[in-house]
Amino acid sequence: MKRNVLIIGAGGVAHVVAHKCAQNNARLGNIHIASRTLAKCQAIIDSIRDKGAMQRPGTLQAHALDAMDVEATKFLIRATRSQIVINVGSPFLNMSVLAACIDTGAAYLDTAIHEDPAKVCETPPWYANYEWKRRDACKKAGVTAVLGVGFDPGVVNAYGRYAADHCFDRIDSIDIIDINAGSHGRYFATNFDPEINFREFTSTVWSWENNAWKASKMFEHSKEWDMPVTGKVTTYLTGHDELHSMSKNLGVPDIRFWMSFGEHYINVFTVLKNLGLLSEKPVRTARGQEVVPLEVVKAVLPDPASLAPDYTGKTCIGDLVKGVRNGQPREVLLYNVCDHKVCYEEVGSQAISYTAGVPAVAAAHERGDIALPWRRGRDGDAWEVQVSEHLVRRSTGRMALADLCNITVARHGDDEATVAFVLDDAGVVEARVRRSRADEIGRPVCSGACGAAVRYELVSMRIASEQRGRVLTASGVA
Ligand code: NDP
Repeated sequence: MKRNVLIIGAGGVAHVVAHKCAQNNARLGNIHIASRTLAKCQAIIDSIRDKGAMQRPGTLQAHALDAMDVEATKFLIRATRSQIVINVGSPFLNMSVLAACIDTGAAYLDTAIHEDPAKVCETPPWYANYEWKRRDACKKAGVTAVLGVGFDPGVVNAYGRYAADHCFDRIDSIDIIDINAGSHGRYFATNFDPEINFREFTSTVWSWENNAWKASKMFEHSKEWDMPVTGKVTTYLTGHDELHSMSKNLGVPDIRFWMSFGEHYINVFTVLKNLGLLSEKPVRTARGQEVVPLEVVKAVLPDPASLAPDYTGKTCIGDLVKGVRNGQPREVLLYNVCDHKVCYEEVGSQAISYTAGVPAVAAAHERGDIALPWRRGRDGDAWEVQVSEHLVRRSTGRMALADLCNITVARHGDDEATVAFVLDDAGVVEARVRRSRADEIGRPVCSGACGAAVRYELVSMRIASEQRGRVLTASGVA
């Protein structure tokens, strides 16, 4: 069973990840936070201690690390005996941290697509320029990388998968709608790293339309949506990470991403952009200093983590899915609403960081065993189980996203059973599971005979096809 987590980065999302790992440390083991600035790691640790967030006494340690340095990262993974690395540092670090995981055998999770500092809004499918190239290396090392497991990308990919598997016979379109109806009370700020935030919007907007990539300009297309809780909000067609994986994995002809922006944000953004202050290309000052304008703007804007105490209002993010079920047109909205203030009270962060951090920890947490709610059948029958929201991990450390699978299990009442996971396009995985006598905090669990959820531990897993160490995204196998 994989244990001990190394969190890379000490920004807003890392803050949430660290708190959530602490709340689950009975299962996740030792928690290490490593970033460029040691004081930021220590501040997160102080906040966890202030809130008494640790589930039980355990290791919680800060480390200074330049995660671009693969050897230093490998050393830290080994020294801390970390088997899970949650990379929530800047997206410039992805390929270095992934390389360190491949060399050390640690599982890799992140919440954003890799970025090259010299390029913005890369050619689709963007993942193919970086992470997907490491598929064979992951396979050879038996390392699983779960990419983009935040909210968007992340949960919205899983919503798409869920809709395809459970709600529709055919999906015609998915509109991912990201609304932040909150207010931080500052003149201008971004909700996560300003440099990354602006880079999303300064170049070509890529969307997936009619089974092909379509280019447009930022703020060229707008649409008003009437969303639950947040109400009517204007959004703009935006390029985003998950389009690059969902377009490949879901077989849906139209997938678009819409983000809400206030008029004030658009005005300030437009002025900064037109002045050249959002450029990633270096310029030379009169004193001969070379500076990257975008980095300067980042340096003068509020640290996104500092917005949390004053943030009010809610976010609503979801997938509006349209298609056909049983010959009839159907429309389904799968969404989540999150309250900035409630997040702050729980972990000291705003809702954008919260919704990005929680899924990554859920993914790390779900390794090692599976909870199987029995769905139908009689004693002695073949039983069907539903594990759509659970991650299954091989005892040797490889993971498979169970929500990619159709599952049948041997027989109800068995203390041990073999579960066959039929992956959409990747063959069959067989898992040997054993009924657990206790849940993770030691309480006895209910027996399956009464129809309640039964927790099973993973005893072993074998991949019947040659699909070992695959690179996964929540919407499918890369
Ligand atoms: P922040 O900018 O707040 O934090 C980034 C952290 O990375 C900082 O602590 C920074 O250190 C650290 N870092 C940067 N370079 C290095 C390096 N070379 N070595 C070690 N540490 C380094 O970002 P956020 O917390 O807002 O976002 C984190 C990630 O989550 C990003 O990839 C972002 O795109 C993603 N994200 C994903 C979302 C989703 O829903 N999927 C939503 C929001 C964010 P220092 O403090 O020294 O600068």
